[in-house]
Order: sequence, then C-alpha cells, then structure tokens
Amino acid sequence: MKIVDKIYINGEFLKPHGREVLDIINPSNNQKIGEVTLADEVDTQNAIASAKEAFKTFSKATVEERISYLEKLKSAVEKRKKEFTDVMVEEYGGTFQFSSMSNEFTGQWFDSMIESVKGFEFEQTINSSKVFLQPVGVVGIITPWNASNGSICSKVATAISAGCTVVIKPSEMSALQTQVLMEAFHEAGLPKGVINFVTGLGSVVGTELTVNPDVAKISFTGSTVVGKLIAKAAVDTMKRVTLELGGKSPNIILDDANLEQAIPTAVFGAYMNSGQACIAPTRLLVPESQLEKVNEIARVTAEQVVVGLPQNENTNVGPMVSVKQFERVQNYIKIGLEEGASLLVGGIGKPDGLEDGNFVKATIFTNVKNDMTIAQEEIFGPVLSIIPYKTDEEAISIANDTPYGLAAYISSSNIERAQKMASQIDAGRVCINGFSHDPMVPFGGFKQSGIGREYGVYGLEAYLEPKAVLQ
Ligand code: NAD
Repeated sequence: MKIVDKIYINGEFLKPHGREVLDIINPSNNQKIGEVTLADEVDTQNAIASAKEAFKTFSKATVEERISYLEKLKSAVEKRKKEFTDVMVEEYGGTFQFSSMSNEFTGQWFDSMIESVKGFEFEQTINSSKVFLQPVGVVGIITPWNASNGSICSKVATAISAGCTVVIKPSEMSALQTQVLMEAFHEAGLPKGVINFVTGLGSVVGTELTVNPDVAKISFTGSTVVGKLIAKAAVDTMKRVTLELGGKSPNIILDDANLEQAIPTAVFGAYMNSGQACIAPTRLLVPESQLEKVNEIARVTAEQVVVGLPQNENTNVGPMVSVKQFERVQNYIKIGLEEGASLLVGGIGKPDGLEDGNFVKATIFTNVKNDMTIAQEEIFGPVLSIIPYKTDEEAISIANDTPYGLAAYISSSNIERAQKMASQIDAGRVCINGFSHDPMVPFGGFKQSGIGREYGVYGLEAYLEPKAVLQ
C-alpha cells in the first residue's frame, strides 16, 4: 500500500493540515493501491505565503542563476525516468509505450527554456523610453491527470526562466507521480519557497489559488468546463490566465495523400495515450470518393491495435483512468449508435479477458456527420470518427466547425497545397504529414481550446509584466 501524506512547502515535506483521504486505484483492475491525504485551503494559503516571500529575492535572480536552476531541475528529473514511467503505468494506466516515450522528453522542457531565456531581452528601448519585462509574481499551476509531469515541468521551467515562484496543484489523481516529482524538485535545491506543491481537490485547493489575491497568474491545463470556471473566478483579482483546454482535432486527408501511410498513422494517432490526449486527431476527414478504401485500411489497422495491460510493451491502448471516465466513453459510443453513425470496429463493452479494468474497445465510427455529438464533443477515449467530405472548401468548413481549435493535421503529397489549407484552419497548431513536436514552438488553442500560449519565448512572455519607463 502506497501512502502519500506529504505536501511540499518552503523547501520542506509536511503533513497537510487537510485531513481528507482519497483512495489511489489501479485502473487496470480497480484494486486499491494506496491513499493520498489531500491538502486544504490552509495548506494552500501557507504555500502561497511561502511563494510570496521567496518571490522578493527570486524575482531578482540573474538570468545565469535561473539557467543554473533549470539545469539542476533537468538533471534531477531525468534521473527518475524509470520511476516516472512505473508510476504512470500504475496510477493512471498510461501504457508503457506512451509513458516511457513522454518521460524521454521531460528534459527538453528545461532545455527549451534555457535556449529561450538566453537571448531574451528583459530590458528593451522604444524611442527614448525603457521597457522592463518583470516577472509577474506568484504563479498558481493547476494540471490534469493525463499529462501531469510533462505539463508541470513545462510550466515550472517557464516560471523559473521568468523569475516567478510557483504553487503547484497537480490533479488529485496524480498523487504517486507528484510524489516522485516533489522529490526530484527538492533534490534540485532551489531556494526555499520558489517551488511548492499542494495536492488536493480542484474545488478546494484550485479554488483557493484562483481567488487568492497574492497569486498573480494561473497557468491551467485541463478541461474547457473547468477552464471557464477558473477564468471567471480569476477576474475578481484580475489574475493573468493561461488556459490550455480541450480539443476535437481534425485530421484532413487530402485526395492526393498516400492512404497506406496516412490512415494507419491517423488511427494510431487517435489512440495516443489510450485516446486520453488533448491534441488527439479524433476526427478523420476523408474525400468521399475514397471513403471505402479508407474504411478498409482503418479496419485492418484497428485489428492490429493491442488493447491490454499498460505494463506490456506491445500494448497500444490501456485502461481509462477511472470508472467514471470509462462510463463516459461508453455513453458516447451509445450516443454515436443512436445518432446513426456506422460502427466500423469496436463498440460498447469491454474487450474479452479485460473485464476487471476500465478498458474500452478500440472503436471507429464511419459516415459520421460533423453535427453528431461524437464529432462535436471531446470523448477522451479510443474513439475515432471518420467524416467524408466532397471538396477542399467543405473539408475546411468541417474542420473549423466545432467549439475547439487546439490542433489540426493535414496529409497531402503536395506541401504547398497543405500549407495553403493550414492557413485557413482555426487551430493553434497545424501539423503537416505526421505528428511533429517542438518545445520551442508556441502551443495553445483558438476558440474554446484556451487563452494564451505556452512553450519557448511565447510561453516566457506570458509570465512577464511589461513596465514602461518614459523619460
Ligand atoms: P479537469 O479540468 O477536470 O481538471 C484539471 C485540474 O483542474 C485538476 O487538477 C483539477 O483538480 C482542477 N480543478 C477542477 N475544478 C477546479 C476548480 N473549480 N478550480 C480550480 N481547479 C479545478 O481535467 P482532467 O480531467 O484532469 O484532464 C483532462 C482534460 O484536460 C481534457 O479536457 C483535456 O483535453 C485537457 N487537457 C488539455 C491539454 C492542453 O494542453 N490543451 C493537455 C492535457 C489535457
């Protein structure tokens, strides 16, 4: 039994003032594997006070000092790759494939900010005036369960680059991952109070962070529903907010694309992190004239997808994080059937032999209309919708016709044609021919996928307050 009963404030591991205890459940078999004691408002206020005190000095750290802290954080985190993978597999059923791959990337969040901060001009001149870019203050970092450590590392690296101090509220469902991360950050040896952790409920710890006047900014990653609550609550103290929210990303296959390559990539892409990924390409837009061929390749590909125990190296799709999430996905599959989408593979129920955990069959609907619920709402499970289109104009219109605008994907053998189409897509990120990733390039959403950008220089600017001195 794993007991997580410590939070991290002012450089010390402390028993929380909060008394509520939450079970930690292994989603592969729904057995209890541990308990986490949750922080409360008092713990959050203590963490904010510690970050506020530390900000007085840390905000004046030189760029060289900040870089040396980023290097220490990177090395402490990189040492624990295997530990992170083990707890991701155990705690949320992240597949070994996905978890180990994402932990290979963790160091790059620090490298990219070192690169970004090096050449950044914190002091600029406009005509005869100076503009000083100052750290915004104490930042509240609120993160989801599906990308916990990567998300926290990226936000912390940016905050440290800017000279901000932080109070981190990880998801209450990421307690084991948080414990490893707290140990790593402690080992990095930053000045006391610069980094604080309070694991607790969103309605308690998250709310306190959002309303507390000593917090200058909230950097949030999570659902659009909660993002809206945060934006509303933050306005009373006029906090700066960066919101990385949900998505329903289109994957447009143009009529000149190599289907044998693009469709398997599309199917495996939709199932990344067992379908629990904000940027997953969940709507596959294909030329109507090629629909039959696409259906056939997609069906054959889906048969190769291994749904199974997350610790097995060949598993592509593991369990959903919780019973609640499993039921949510089942309900969407039911709605898809009721609204008249054709089921190509998968469907309601658990795969044979996996009845104890929260496993969903790898599912594909075809002949989906874009106004169906399964094409409009974020399902967050291994469910792909194939949507036929007649012309490029119609493909663009379908791609843009959801409340979201996080990511989009285009496959074509003609790069110029794909680039022209990219310019007409309402999304913060468009990937051409594959799923590229670059931590220096801005990341964030159009429309209800968020506000602001993270990563690199764009991310850094969101943690700075420009002050103009006119003379
Ligand atoms: P969630 O919105 O339920 O929770 C996210 C965090 O917010 C958790 O730490 C939660 O405790 C906290 N929270 C809940 N209510 C709160 C409140 N009232 N005030 C303050 N904090 C509160 O999301 P989730 O289920 O943990 O994660 C899945 C969602 O995250 C999906 O919608 C996914 O698309 C999104 N996501 C987005 C990105 C991105 O970068 N755009 C990345 C990963 C996940």
